[in-house]
Amino acid sequence: MAQTPKKRIVVVGGGAAGLGLVRKLAKNDRYEVILVDRNRTHVWKPLLHEVAAGALDPNQDEVGYGGHAVRWGYRFFQGALARIDRDRQVIVTAPLVDEDGEVIFEEHEIAYDILVLAIGGVSDDFGIPGVRDNALFLEHRAQADRFRQKLLNACLRVNARREKGEVDATLPICIVGGGATGVELSAELVNSARALSSYGLEGFDPDAFRITLIEAGPRLLPALDEKVVGKVTQELRDIGVDVRVNTMVTQVDKDRVHMKDGTDLPATLILWAAGVRGESGVPGYSDLELSRLDRVVVRPTLQSVTDDRIFAIGDCCHCVLPGQERPVAPRAQAAQQMADHLLVAIDKLDKGQTLPDFEYKDRGSLVSLSHFATVGSLMGNLMSGKLSIEGRVARLAYISLYRIHILTVHGWLRGMAQLIAGRINRVVRPRLKLH
Ligand SMILES: Cc1cc2nc3c(=O)[nH]c(=O)nc-3n(C[C@H](O)[C@H](O)[C@H](O)COP(=O)(O)OP(=O)(O)OC[C@H]3O[C@@H](n4cnc5c(N)ncnc54)[C@H](O)[C@@H]3O)c2cc1C
Repeated sequence: MAQTPKKRIVVVGGGAAGLGLVRKLAKNDRYEVILVDRNRTHVWKPLLHEVAAGALDPNQDEVGYGGHAVRWGYRFFQGALARIDRDRQVIVTAPLVDEDGEVIFEEHEIAYDILVLAIGGVSDDFGIPGVRDNALFLEHRAQADRFRQKLLNACLRVNARREKGEVDATLPICIVGGGATGVELSAELVNSARALSSYGLEGFDPDAFRITLIEAGPRLLPALDEKVVGKVTQELRDIGVDVRVNTMVTQVDKDRVHMKDGTDLPATLILWAAGVRGESGVPGYSDLELSRLDRVVVRPTLQSVTDDRIFAIGDCCHCVLPGQERPVAPRAQAAQQMADHLLVAIDKLDKGQTLPDFEYKDRGSLVSLSHFATVGSLMGNLMSGKLSIEGRVARLAYISLYRIHILTVHGWLRGMAQLIAGRINRVVRPRLKLH
């Protein structure tokens, strides 16, 4: 008897949403699964502030797509999405070039029966002059590595100036955006400053760091309860971070940040972590309907409103659920839940059945202030409203989001082994990555 041909599912983007999805889809014999990502390895994005501050060695936590694909039975293709030809059901990837600019191979076409876009997003510069040219970002691993290198060099410069007698030499760092990234990086940098003096920079004075966290809105972390935000703000101030809310940045120079009230701040390092939008290339990929922020507009089923065979999940999608006014927030837990939803949705689409709507369950928000504190609020089915938590319980809940990701990506057995290895590594390796 002739075998039914397999449905080819192409997933573009192996991040918080895409990587777990391909592993689970590949278990189904009816599908041929191909993952396309512009990078060769995956590092979970919520860890990037730790990578930037030197608190985490990304080599320990990264996943190589090639090996992962062999282990779980899907194919991996390295390439950056350049176009989607919807009529021919084909995606085209841009030519792949090496670090010297030499072309490894030219444009490449991959046909699909079902396409899943999981390409994430980037920070929103709101068109403010100088941001893209002069600020640093934490959108992917290379940027986190670059921040760390610049941080270490800046520390060495300040140390050298102090040793030459300039005892007041400081390292001003400006972080723009009072969401989780900005808040967590501020605390992580204070922790790194304290650790640096015991790692080679014996004379380094942690007080040389001058960290300013700038937020345009009236408070940090708009997704969290006011009580929790109050605690976070106080904790940051207690550890020496200058928190400025209601402060609008109007221009960013190489070494200075200008504010709407006419003031400015000197800054050796400027990190931009405000807002989430689609990448600048997204409008050129296809004629799919996009939101004002260049995210793919999807129905509650997570199918593009333009094309039923194309799904978009995670930070790259604009999904307004029935009864809601605002789109689902660009967060790791939403990305993971959307990926899980697609396992059911793709099966139904394949069988010609009606697709269910995605239901987002907000499980709460947690913020880690490095070793200083973890605070947040949890939501559960059994609880009415939000429950504020802090301390060890909050730390455990915070870490569990990453643990879930590891188990999703590697399966239970390998995932547990990976977590145990990670624990051992944390004990045996230095507290800071100084290279
Ligand atoms: C520092 C930091 C801290 C965070 N902390 C938290 C937190 O505590 N809790 C929380 O819920 N969320 C947090 N987030 C947000 C969370 O990381 C994102 O919501 C989540 O990663 C989105 O998942 P995604 O799969 O949509 O995109 P991503 O995880 O960004 O993955 C996108 C993938 O697509 C690939 N890609 C992009 N463009 C292309 C292209 N053109 N062609 C091919 N491949 C492409 C990328 O290489 C990447 O692998 C944090 C984010 C940052 C930056």
